[in-house]
Amino acid sequence: MPTVVSPTPAREVAPRLRVNEIFHSLQGESRSAGFPTVFVRLTGCPLRCGYCDTEYAFHEGRWMAIDEILDQVAGHRTRYVTVTGGEPLAQRPCIELLAALCDRGFDVSLETSGAVAIGAVDPRVRIVMDVKTPASGEADRNLAGNLADLKPGDEVKFVICDRADYEWSRAFVECENLAQRCEVLFSPAWGRLAPRELGDWILADRLPVRLQVQLHKILWGEERGR
Ligand code: SF4
Repeated sequence: MPTVVSPTPAREVAPRLRVNEIFHSLQGESRSAGFPTVFVRLTGCPLRCGYCDTEYAFHEGRWMAIDEILDQVAGHRTRYVTVTGGEPLAQRPCIELLAALCDRGFDVSLETSGAVAIGAVDPRVRIVMDVKTPASGEADRNLAGNLADLKPGDEVKFVICDRADYEWSRAFVECENLAQRCEVLFSPAWGRLAPRELGDWILADRLPVRLQVQLHKILWGEERGR
């Protein structure tokens, strides 16, 4: 009788992500601004916003297994973790990384451009999603379906470069009834619009949105890894 050789089971390959940097700093944006936070910046972004301040994340990075990322994050001994980019969701295993961070008990947020579907993101993750304004040069990349997937605790951010951007954003918030669905952040583009001016516009129009300044840039300028 011929010997029956059982097929070798396919080896499972642990998912890996290309990571640009992992660092410990103060959260500069969103509702958790000011809290010590570990940032996991993933490599790559399909967009090219005119004001982008993380172009170095488009291509630079090294491949890491999810367990290796979790160990590095844990080594910083903080409660808050933000997964950012680039556009973190451009790498599919990001979904798995987010769930694994939640499983480890971290308070996890995700910064995303709004150009990639958020529907598969673990509901324990607080999503901070951009709506790209006309002056970004990428407004046609906003994925309309993403608005329906936002939870009440999520945040939507408009980076505003000028008055035309402001008026466009105000109309968007009103038209989508956005302030009733989640938290809305209006953030002046660094070096392009004075925060005070944006604050005056918000007050004059009595908009139900939060003015957000980039705390990390006030503290450290454009220093990398801050
Ligand atoms: S989505 Fe973010 S990382 Fe990508 S180009 Fe725009 S600002 Fe830069």
